[in-house]
Parts: sequence; C-alpha cells; structure tokens
Amino acid sequence: MNPSEYPEIYLDFNATCPVHPSIRDSLAGWVSSSGGNPSSPHSAGKKARDLIESARISVAQLVHAPAGNVIFTSGATESILLVFYHFLSSGLSPVKVAIPRSEHPATLSAARFIESWGAEILSVQVNPDGQMDLDHLLHILRITPGLSFVSAAAANNETGVLQDPGSLASLTHQFGVPLHIDASQWIGKLAWPALTRDQSPDFISFSGHKFGALKGVGALMILGKGNKPFSSLMPGGGQQAGLRGGTENVLGIASMGAAARLVSSGAVSVDASYRDIFETKIRKLFPDAVIHSCNVPRLPNTSLVAIPGLEAELLVLNLSRQGIAVSTGSACSTGKPDPSHVLIAMNVPLNLIGSTFRVSTGHTTTTSQINALICSLSTLNMD
Ligand code: PLP
Repeated sequence: MNPSEYPEIYLDFNATCPVHPSIRDSLAGWVSSSGGNPSSPHSAGKKARDLIESARISVAQLVHAPAGNVIFTSGATESILLVFYHFLSSGLSPVKVAIPRSEHPATLSAARFIESWGAEILSVQVNPDGQMDLDHLLHILRITPGLSFVSAAAANNETGVLQDPGSLASLTHQFGVPLHIDASQWIGKLAWPALTRDQSPDFISFSGHKFGALKGVGALMILGKGNKPFSSLMPGGGQQAGLRGGTENVLGIASMGAAARLVSSGAVSVDASYRDIFETKIRKLFPDAVIHSCNVPRLPNTSLVAIPGLEAELLVLNLSRQGIAVSTGSACSTGKPDPSHVLIAMNVPLNLIGSTFRVSTGHTTTTSQINALICSLSTLNMD
C-alpha cells in the first residue's frame, strides 16, 4: 500500500480494499492496450475486447459460474438496481420482494425505487445477533402468493454476519421464488461455496473494489435457469448483449479480472487471527465492551465493537489524526447522523449504537498494526 494514498494503518477493508500493488503496476499496460472501443472490429478494438473477455472468465470463476453469465456494471449498487428493475418491468403486477431489514442502503434504495412504482416490500426481521429471522422469512414465503423474489446479503457490511447463500436459495426455491444475493462483502474474504443447481442463487451482485480492483466496476451474475428474459434498465448501444449497454469500463473491468485471479489463487486472502487478536485484547482492555454478533458465523475480518460511554464518531476522527483508519459502520453512512439501521434492526440500544465502531482487516494487516490500534484505544479518556 502506498502510504501517501492510505492512512498508515488501514483497518477499513469493508469500506474498500486498497488497489492491489500488482494491479496498480499493470494499469499503464492496460491503458495502452485499451485504446480502441471494445465493440470495434479492428485490432485496437479487439485488444480492448480481449481484456474484457479474459476478465469475464476470471470473475465468473469467483462464483463457479460460466463466463457468459457475467454482466459488468459500475458496481454492486447498479447490479442490485438492475435486478430490482428486472422484476419490476417483467413481473406480473404487483411485484413483491422480501428483504431483511439489515440490508445495505444499495438494496434498501433499490427497494424504495420499485416501491415508488407500485411494488410491495416485505421486511424480514433480524434477530439480536444480526441474522435474518429465517422463521419470519418462511412465514412470508408461506403467506405471500406471487412473491416475486427475495434479496439478501451473503455478508453484512457492518456486522459481518453471514447468510449461507446455498441454504437460502434452497429455501426460496422450495416455494418457486427466485433469490438475489448481494455478495459484495463475501467475495474476496471467503471462498464461494460449490452449489448445486437448486442451491444456486438466481442473481449475484458484487463490486470489484471490495477485493482490490479499481472503484466503479462490479458484476451481476445472472444464473437462474427458469427466469424470464432479463429486462435491461439500460440497453444503450447493445453492448453486453443489450443487457447493460454503454461502452465498457475496460480499465476497471481488467482490474477486476486481475483482482479475481489474485483472490482465486489465494494471493489476497483474509486471516481471522487479526480479528481474534483484536477482540481478545479489546475485551481485556474494556471488560464491558460489546462485540456485536460474535456468537454467530461472521466474516473473518470484521469486528463491530461497542465500548459503553465512548463516542464512536469522535474516536474515528481521533484515530484518523493518528494515521489509523477504522469506521463507525457502513461507509455509505459515514458523515450521516442517523444511527445504524442494522443495529436498530438488531434491537441494540441507541446509546450503545453511538459507541460502536468497526475494525475490518485485510491482506495488508499485521499484528503490530493491531497492537498500535489497541495502544491508541488504551489512552482513551472515558470520563
Ligand atoms: N452491498 C454491500 C453489502 C456493500 O457493503 C456495498 C458497499 O459498501 C454495496 C452493496 C455497494 O457497493 P458499491 O458502492 O461499490 O456499489
């Protein structure tokens, strides 16, 4: 990591993963190979097309899918919106979607968008550990004839809580209901499981910058076999088979392909030991600290901690002055005074929500960085 670009101690990988050095080194080469328009038939166009097609194969491998099922987008936000729009425009009315209350704003806003066009949103409850209440989802599946789809994150960006995509797909498919999975926080931190056809989500969305690619590029995987033809929000000039038009972001896509290869080869992986060292030390330092969701399966890199009496927003600013980057939770919520809707859904008391901060580790994390963070926290004046 280049210290001039990122704080010295970067522990905010759930917000974004710094561009991998090998990707940074490849950028100039990709710029010169992508001089042509990838839709042009001449050799300059073909060079750009080759970069895209090679990335397509690598990105598809992340979720064990055929390359033909990848649509490149500007990121998970767009991928998610494309799925919601697809159901809005091709579903029998009224469209009905079930989503957990703890979803990322990218999903909540896509839901509000289709709601403004008459869709019905069914909110699935979340238990105090941050897991989707599967009994409640089952109830919704049973009592909602014509449920159009279910959308859920495989890993929550704030708590790191996991939702097994295979068992969720098996459940919704029992009712003939398609499943969209937001895998933005899973890809790059955990291997995607090998799934049978019934266990496979119908749509998967994710963003390249969460695992080392440039920002502003993502993918939507369209996997469902029995789905209606995909209705595109932006057919544009017919690129990507008209499913997502517009000249492709060749540089971003090439970087995502390279990041995908690093993830698949194990060169970029997440080591749970840093999270565990941090949590052991924080418990020792602050015996009343609350580590949210620590008793349920969660990402190996994510600690969401509340220290009673602490003002988390001030802490984040304070640590930033010392060159340490952590977060109060969702990157998209930073700077916004509203308390975390994820923690509200988990019934966490408001005072504890204001005392909650997130440490998310990644491939550049070291034990001495965790020690430095703990050392800074030990100097906190809690009076
Ligand atoms: N979904 C989840 C779970 C996320 O964590 C994020 C980013 O924070 C997104 C969706 C949106 O990703 P992007 O901003 O790259 O479109």
